[in-house]
Amino acid sequence: MKVCPSCRSSFDKSLAICPYCGTIVQDSQPMVYQQPAVPQPEPKDSVSVGGWIGRSLIPYSPLVGGIVYLIMLFIWSGDKKKEDTFRNWAKAQLIMMAVIIVLTILGVVLFGSAFSDLLNSF
Ligand SMILES: [Zn+2]
Repeated sequence: MKVCPSCRSSFDKSLAICPYCGTIVQDSQPMVYQQPAVPQPEPKDSVSVGGWIGRSLIPYSPLVGGIVYLIMLFIWSGDKKKEDTFRNWAKAQLIMMAVIIVLTILGVVLFGSAFSDLLNSF
């Protein structure tokens, strides 16, 4: 049974309109619309200007800085708390480093032997 909120008369629950006063009646037990659980994005650290400067300076510090920077890039690229943009940047830096290392090795292998051949020809 439904109870009309307007005239308080009860009637069959299949009716959407009160037969006594014509009020449009919602279900007496309104469906609780469960909001689909929206995944709340975890608060991510935003990178301050100082942070960017510090991170930009790390690779310029001699030797140790390069290794620290490489490790930090690995950590940053997998750090879910960091902003996507920052993680992508860290990944891009790693990829670029890998490319540069590969190119350097290729350069040494290809041109290194050519260079030593050149020296040996004298
Ligand atoms: Zn009514």
